[in-house]
Amino acid sequence: MTIARIALDVPLAGPFDYLAPQLTQEDVGRRVVVPFGPRKMVGIVLDITPHSDYDPAKLKPIKLVHADMPPLAADVLATCQFCSDYYHHPLGQVIFTGLPGRLRQIEAFTRPAGSHWCLTEQGAHALPSAITPRARAQAKLLVALQANPLGADQAQHISANAPAILRKWAANGWVQRMTPARSPYPHAPASPSLTDEQRAAIDLAQSHAGFQVMLLHGVTGSGKTEVYLQLIAKALAQSRQALILVPEINLTPQLTLRFSERFPERRIVSLHSGLADGERADNWLAAQSGEADIILGTRLAVFTPIPRLGLIVVDEEHDGSFKQQEGLRYSARDVAIYRAHVRDVPIILGSATPSLETYHNAQTGRYRYAKLSRRAVQSARLPTIQTIDTSRLLLQDGLSDPLVNALHARLQAGEQSLVFINRRGYSPVLFCGECGWIAGCKRCSARLVVHLRARQLRCHLCGHEEPIVSACPDCGNQDIRPLGVGTQRIEAALADRLPEARIIRVDRDVTRRKEAFTDILSDIHQGKADILIGTQMLAKGHDFPNLSLVCVLNADSGLYSADFRATEKLFALLLQVSGRAGRAEIPGEVLIQTQFPNHPLLHALITHDFDSYARRLLTERQQAQFPPFVYQAILRAEAPDIDQAIAFLDRAKALAEQLDSPVTLFDPVPSPLSRLAGLERAQLLVQHPSRNILQTLLKHWLPHLHALSDRQIRWIIDIDPQDL
Ligand code: ADP
Ligand code: ZN
Ligand code: ZN
Repeated sequence: MTIARIALDVPLAGPFDYLAPQLTQEDVGRRVVVPFGPRKMVGIVLDITPHSDYDPAKLKPIKLVHADMPPLAADVLATCQFCSDYYHHPLGQVIFTGLPGRLRQIEAFTRPAGSHWCLTEQGAHALPSAITPRARAQAKLLVALQANPLGADQAQHISANAPAILRKWAANGWVQRMTPARSPYPHAPASPSLTDEQRAAIDLAQSHAGFQVMLLHGVTGSGKTEVYLQLIAKALAQSRQALILVPEINLTPQLTLRFSERFPERRIVSLHSGLADGERADNWLAAQSGEADIILGTRLAVFTPIPRLGLIVVDEEHDGSFKQQEGLRYSARDVAIYRAHVRDVPIILGSATPSLETYHNAQTGRYRYAKLSRRAVQSARLPTIQTIDTSRLLLQDGLSDPLVNALHARLQAGEQSLVFINRRGYSPVLFCGECGWIAGCKRCSARLVVHLRARQLRCHLCGHEEPIVSACPDCGNQDIRPLGVGTQRIEAALADRLPEARIIRVDRDVTRRKEAFTDILSDIHQGKADILIGTQMLAKGHDFPNLSLVCVLNADSGLYSADFRATEKLFALLLQVSGRAGRAEIPGEVLIQTQFPNHPLLHALITHDFDSYARRLLTERQQAQFPPFVYQAILRAEAPDIDQAIAFLDRAKALAEQLDSPVTLFDPVPSPLSRLAGLERAQLLVQHPSRNILQTLLKHWLPHLHALSDRQIRWIIDIDPQDL
């Protein structure tokens, strides 16, 4: 008898046994369709065995064996198994987290014909008159196609509607998919001659052929990407593939372009959740089949099968978006390290502001460490950073006079400025001065944010919206006001005070439309803006050559926060934003408005001294027994009532105490954000200096929790949580 053990995307441990006479060991990792209850489901074959623990008479046969995807490789399955064990998540769900959506569907997948869209002769004649210039996306696509064949990613970078438009054009015979005979990028820019620091970093990365982790710690603009490019070139020269993980979806188009220019003869695919389903599956299969040499993706790309893998790079390794905050709560950076270990290949973690975990590992010698301390372009110096002490100044709409004057000066000099404020909307609080009422979300323990133009109050956590009230609902006072500033208020205030300035605001409200962000970036590059007002969307990775002044508005809230990671995150954020100033010929300047100009964080920032501040934070963490000196896990419970949630956690804690483990168990407490979308949340923190001891407790403890909870209570475990 041939039994297939199958992983399914269900919240049960699995695997599930099916009769599979047509399968052999070769089929481990294959995509199949099986009956599950009344439904059909896609499954992945984990094992083929002659025995089953179940009554063979009751086993059902698998329905279909798909040939559209080669079996998942052993190292991918091993990585999934590691995630299942370490994050305590069902293996089937882990495997399906890593699969592109299209391959989670029952229907067979047919790969599109070629990798690029090309204009047909018919299209070259017909299209120019067929589209009106008003159809902006179509016109842009046509111009691009007239120049070069267009990869689907690039097309989508031009317009989010590109897939639909191109499909329509294809139906008319105007475009077709094919693999271009020549590269769409004929002119590869020569690689610059390396700085000594870059050369040393590359030598260190290559000093050992197999698995090793190297932290590439380089200030913004120091040429980290150049180091990646050179290491990738060396891997490609040995017929290997390279996997590059980046935090943000909106960083991939620029990076893709830079890679395509450097490696014109190579196939580069990107993998992120913004791709159309078919595209993502196609790119994923191109990686799996070895057609793609370079795989550039966000966290989910860490599970991609890559047969000739030779190098992994995690760019901006400190970035919070590498941690998934729902479902499988994995850290793509940590999983990438595991994957590199399994494949015995080197992995580079790059950052200007490494996470303290990574930095600590480099300091203690577990990781190799390469530093790029200077900007790569000789003329580009690090910006000067100064504080503006707002405890003695009058602020108007959150802006001090020296700050507005500095903006004015840059405006006159024809240079761009960035005003950074990490809060969108008009104002974060609507407040009644008579009775102290504050507009709050009915479903969350959060304040409602005033969105003046839309005349709405919005909850940034659950999305709840309601009209702005004109009188206080508690006391009837008609004079209720917005308190504090957000991006919209700054935009309005600056438009008022610097009427000649062209202002562009960049936050999630503006960039909700898919192509809006890339449109805005190109406007900024073309000098169509004098002042940019932005949230952290603008803090990372973007290179604006004409930007010489960065103003930081409301950083103070992070200086004294209850979250022990707040200062680490704020420091990284401020260094990243500061890094936007003065990238090219123009020296950069950074102004930070603060009531606490003597805070050590700001001192370290002003002197660009990451190292001594990081060491200071590490000392504090060690004294207080916080990560990286301990490993943590959080058991979170959600219930309609906070008492139910706490009671469940109390029972859970009592159970853990019986297990006689040295792990520290804290008391259950309401979560910092205790009410979210109508449910009350509480949490129980457990920690220990040894990862193994913590994991052993979890392994014996968590399976018993199912018996403790009832239908009203939902619980999850978050390993190495980023937010407490
Ligand atoms: P990072 O990734 O650290 O921000 P980049 O690799 O993007 O830095 O480099 C910043 C700028 O310096 C880019 O314009 C890049 O082309 C340039 N650059 C990098 N290395 C060198 C070098 N060795 N010589 C001259 N220019 C360089
Ligand atoms: Zn009132
Ligand atoms: Zn809410």
